Amino acid sequence: MWMTTSVKTHSPKNHRMRRPNRRILCQEAGMPRTTKPSTEAVHNRRQERIETRTRSEAWKKPPRRIESAECITCDSCVRSCPPEFGAIVDRGLQVVIVPELCSGCPKCVAVCPVDCIYVDEKSEPTGDDLWNLVVSNEHGAR
Ligand code: SF4
Ligand code: SF4
Repeated sequence: MWMTTSVKTHSPKNHRMRRPNRRILCQEAGMPRTTKPSTEAVHNRRQERIETRTRSEAWKKPPRRIESAECITCDSCVRSCPPEFGAIVDRGLQVVIVPELCSGCPKCVAVCPVDCIYVDEKSEPTGDDLWNLVVSNEHGAR
């Protein structure tokens, strides 16, 4: 019985199942599925989105938005947003999602203690003030 369990755990099939799904990884990073995204390539894609202020067309899910009237600014969502997206910005009294950087993945939704992150079907282009904050945070992170 013990031997059977051990063999199953280390079988090639189970090993394959634990590997990250490249299709999803590429789709979320806005890259062709045939490409294995390196950390640098993923970072560059985000930089492109910041420079062009454009959301990836490969992202099929709509972005998310934070309902500020319900948010308790705990910052859990900021920490949970994958660095390849880095879509959530803490403005001090307000935490906001930049829709052009949000893939809709939606990891932030799972950690929000008050369920105030909603699908944003009608997102508006992000204003200059917020883009300037995103850029200045980028420079501060270097
Ligand atoms: S859904 Fe949430 S975690 Fe995912 S990219 Fe958008 S803001 Fe980040
Ligand atoms: S996790 Fe929810 S409550 Fe906390 S800052 Fe984010 S949106 Fe606001």
